[in-house]
Amino acid sequence: MKIISNPLALQQHVKNIDKTVGFVPTMGALHEGHIALIREAKKENELVVVSIFVNPTQFLAGEDLKKYPKKEEADKKICELAGVDVLFLPQAKDIYTQDEVKICAPNVRGYVLEGATRPGHFSGVLTVVMKLLNIVSPSRAYFGKKDAQQLHLISAMVQQFFMSVEIIPVNIVRDSDGLALSSRNVYLSSKQRVEALKIPKSLYTASQLIGKNILNTVQIKEAMKQILAPLHVEYVEILNRDFEVIKEVELGNTIILVEVIVGQTRLLDNIWL
Ligand code: AMP
Repeated sequence: MKIISNPLALQQHVKNIDKTVGFVPTMGALHEGHIALIREAKKENELVVVSIFVNPTQFLAGEDLKKYPKKEEADKKICELAGVDVLFLPQAKDIYTQDEVKICAPNVRGYVLEGATRPGHFSGVLTVVMKLLNIVSPSRAYFGKKDAQQLHLISAMVQQFFMSVEIIPVNIVRDSDGLALSSRNVYLSSKQRVEALKIPKSLYTASQLIGKNILNTVQIKEAMKQILAPLHVEYVEILNRDFEVIKEVELGNTIILVEVIVGQTRLLDNIWL
């Protein structure tokens, strides 16, 4: 596995290799969720590039940028074992300069749900993803469905800016107790972790109601909120795949999304129906 930290060196390296490239951008502290993305990339491409970069521009003041979990040595081993060809490990100074051109998240879709409590977060995400895609020039880039709003906005950016990369969504990987894997789960105490299990439980309840043909989204959201109480719920929302609010669940075209703060930790989860 080749480790590169200089963006121009990586750009040159990829240009010189005439292969299909699968790209998996991450912020590190890798877990099975990230490995699932790498596996998909391995299946569909001749060369796999993973980046680990804790992108400062997507953290708001007071968020966990400084304490975001870092496990560089373990991450290198995981990538090596997973068969990654190139690991991109840039520093912030390699990616950003002063007074830069920026990508702005759309005024509505970038400022609802997670964007409502983290204004500007998605502009930071889109800016870094644009940069990373331009450095790596992949055939395909892999993103987790866990970050459904991020996936939606990145897909929109690629389409609206006529970029020639295919965005591949990858299913959520969960722990054996049902909690969606996240690098931030390490912040949870054992008590908080038990409380956090209300999140997958609420989504399971929603899918059970839908199985009984209860499709009214207000009713489903109410049932979910009852399960989530007394946790601090940022949102429970039911949208179609275009990220529009719907009154009735449309099977094959619905995402149910939850964001909850447990202690200080922001936890996202969703199901696609
Ligand atoms: P992160 O390192 O948290 O920025 O995540 C990097 C990529 O991995 C993003 O596309 C995430 O959506 C994806 N990801 C994170 N957790 C999971 C998970 N549990 N299942 C599937 N993909 C995930």
